Amino acid sequence: MILAAFLLGLTAFNADDSTLRIGVFVLFRPADLVLSPNPGGLIELETDEGNFVLEGSQSARLRLSGSLVQCLTGERVIHSRMVRTRPRVGAVSEFTIGVPGKIERRFRGVLEVSPGAGALIPVVVMDRETAVSSALAAESPPGATMEALKAQAVTMRSYYAAERGRHQRYDFCDTTHCQFLREQPGPDSVFSRATEATRGLVLAYRGVTIPGFFAASCGGRTHSLEQVGMRAEGYPYYSVECAYCRRHAREWETRLPAAEATARLQEGPSEKLRLRITRELGWSAIPGNHFSVSPDGDALVVRGRGAGHGVGLCQQGAAGMALSGASFLDILRHYFPNTQLAAVPSGP
Ligand SMILES: [Zn+2]
Ligand SMILES: [Zn+2]
Repeated sequence: MILAAFLLGLTAFNADDSTLRIGVFVLFRPADLVLSPNPGGLIELETDEGNFVLEGSQSARLRLSGSLVQCLTGERVIHSRMVRTRPRVGAVSEFTIGVPGKIERRFRGVLEVSPGAGALIPVVVMDRETAVSSALAAESPPGATMEALKAQAVTMRSYYAAERGRHQRYDFCDTTHCQFLREQPGPDSVFSRATEATRGLVLAYRGVTIPGFFAASCGGRTHSLEQVGMRAEGYPYYSVECAYCRRHAREWETRLPAAEATARLQEGPSEKLRLRITRELGWSAIPGNHFSVSPDGDALVVRGRGAGHGVGLCQQGAAGMALSGASFLDILRHYFPNTQLAAVPSGP
């Protein structure tokens, strides 16, 4: 494989069953990164020219240099095919990494930085539960209560367990292409507590973990995969009533120019078509898949409710169910009929 031929010296850290390889800062395509230990900590870096330690206020500047990573610390300049934080026995390394002038995040795990096409590729190999709490904190609507968060944590963990290897150099990216992920929330946060309360639990259908899909607000009824034009090979997802959304989902109306793509909206929702149209006309052109269409002169008027693809767990509906006293199990049973709660499987 390309990866094996490319990395002659250091090889990519093997994620075991309980860790995931997450590509971070994917939207930034960084060619320049700053890496430093967290206050009071130290990190050991592995490079082709040997290992060295960063501690206190020391930092390393990593830059793309042709097919190598240039690593600058103080007076030292090293070129390496990969720069990696060295896992220390009995300790989890914590570090801060940033794209200068744009973003900075603190992570726990092993960092690998290697060159890609025109950009560095930073990958954090992190514990799966750390990834779940980090994504939960990033993706949850404000004010979601504990049982809704627990349902969402199981859904997100299922996705991570079922969909590994979505990218060539890492399992998942940190954008909504996979699951949006920022840094880990504090141990006492509701996100960490909801993750811990459901540790290791996933959704299974006929004994196989399902990729837990979720969306912001279904508008009153969720969709099966088939209803939004997606192939269902395993779990089909089901269209279920969402009483809370039916009463509370935000209503929207847009006026789109009549064209080949927009005309096809009259055939019913299609996630592929919605993404195509929103790429051209912006996300507000069709916020969600719960809508009706009526022609009006040269235009099409689209009236809808809610936001997102509407498949799987509905975040607004789950929040509403939790407020009415539903447990996370009630919420999962409602949005994922015919599934069972299972322990995350081990092995590939
Ligand atoms: Zn992705
Ligand atoms: Zn809903």
